[in-house]
Amino acid sequence: MLLLCLAVISLIASSLCAAVPARDSVSELQSVSTISTRNKLLLISFDGFRWDYDQDVETPNLDKMAQDGVKAAYVTPPFLTITSPSHFTMLTGRYVENHGVIHNMWFNTTTQEKKQYYDAQFVDSYWDNGSLPIWITAQRQGLKTGSLHFPGTAPTYTGETVMVRQVEPRFYNHSNETDWKMNIDKVIGEWFHKNDLDFVTLYFGEPDLAGHEYGPDSPERRKMVQQVDRTVGYIRNKIRDHGLTDRLNIIITADHGMSKVLRGGQVEEIILSKIPGFSFRDIQFQLLDYGPVGMLLPKEGMLEKVYKVLKVSHPHLHVYKKEKMPARLHYSNNPRLLPLILIADPGYIINGFFPVNYNKGEHGFDNEDMDMKAFFRAVGPDFKKAVAVDPFDLVNVYPLMCHLLGINPEINDGHLKHTKHMLVSTISEENYQMEVLIGLSALAGFLVLVFIIAISCSMWKGTRA
Ligand SMILES: [Zn+2]
Repeated sequence: MLLLCLAVISLIASSLCAAVPARDSVSELQSVSTISTRNKLLLISFDGFRWDYDQDVETPNLDKMAQDGVKAAYVTPPFLTITSPSHFTMLTGRYVENHGVIHNMWFNTTTQEKKQYYDAQFVDSYWDNGSLPIWITAQRQGLKTGSLHFPGTAPTYTGETVMVRQVEPRFYNHSNETDWKMNIDKVIGEWFHKNDLDFVTLYFGEPDLAGHEYGPDSPERRKMVQQVDRTVGYIRNKIRDHGLTDRLNIIITADHGMSKVLRGGQVEEIILSKIPGFSFRDIQFQLLDYGPVGMLLPKEGMLEKVYKVLKVSHPHLHVYKKEKMPARLHYSNNPRLLPLILIADPGYIINGFFPVNYNKGEHGFDNEDMDMKAFFRAVGPDFKKAVAVDPFDLVNVYPLMCHLLGINPEINDGHLKHTKHMLVSTISEENYQMEVLIGLSALAGFLVLVFIIAISCSMWKGTRA
């Protein structure tokens, strides 16, 4: 009888152990993704859509989207707050120093060669640098993916490209609303509906261009935000018309914000050639005249001299040796970064020989500056409705997308814990259900045990009598 009791106890104990899930994040993701049915996902980036751009314009479609889904107060982009680095963070979940796309420009300090944003898109080795974008990971796990104009679409990554793609021609007009509609028709009607793709990234070059040219406070920028708003309405209507509303999640976000540039008489501009003691003869390679951040490679033996001169040259210019960059910026530990990094305060830009950049708005500033924060909206079957959430870092969008797609993420710098509360069925709720199940099993086991002991005792008494 004693042996029988022991056997029953060990059986109950082993079944309880088997019911306890592993607690590491990958197995959490797997357990959840196998439970839920996978929905399709559309990631949209409106370049340079600052977090508060909907506050001085009527945006009925963005408001409706917030009612139907999730709105974050803002998202913090990675530093450097410019287009290619930030978009590659969205695609990889890695900080810029870890994915290595450190600038919009590709450059070679030996040959002095520089490639601007568009040409840099076609330098495979610049992008294919150890971090896989989410399209490739998803394809390797059996999903069908596409990308239209999204930065990072053109290169080949370890021999693979995104399955269906459209790269814009060299002199593409990024502001034309008719083209936007054609691109949306293609993504929703052809790629998602006809070709049954699982995941698509879609990029629009506005309101960045309007913000640069006219400034973030201009009527032209507000007009462009209304064009973005109409486009959001158009996208959601197209999705409805193709019967995809209940099967497609949409995330809309941006790579950075925009800040007003102070000019001429208003401020003392930062012009390196005018700084006493500074000489371009001491510099082997420079990346300047690109908004508020510059990089310098001084000639052999000149680093200390250049550093000391620039360090005290202007109250709104911050000069760092690369290894002394603030750790929170995650813009230090990469061999592609040049030894001296120059960062201007909001309102200022860094000029080399003389001012050549007359933009009224700029980005690239410290990502703690509120003007650099971007917007974030999400709607779809996996998102809660009418929920406003606290700010989070853009680096966390990647694990969220992997979770929604039910794929195992690559190593990344984000975490699902920062966004899971916006989902209808969160991991914590499922863990709670699991814990209730374990509790009930334990109670049932205990009652069975009591029952067996009681029966045993009465039988034992019976045999003695
Ligand atoms: Zn941008």
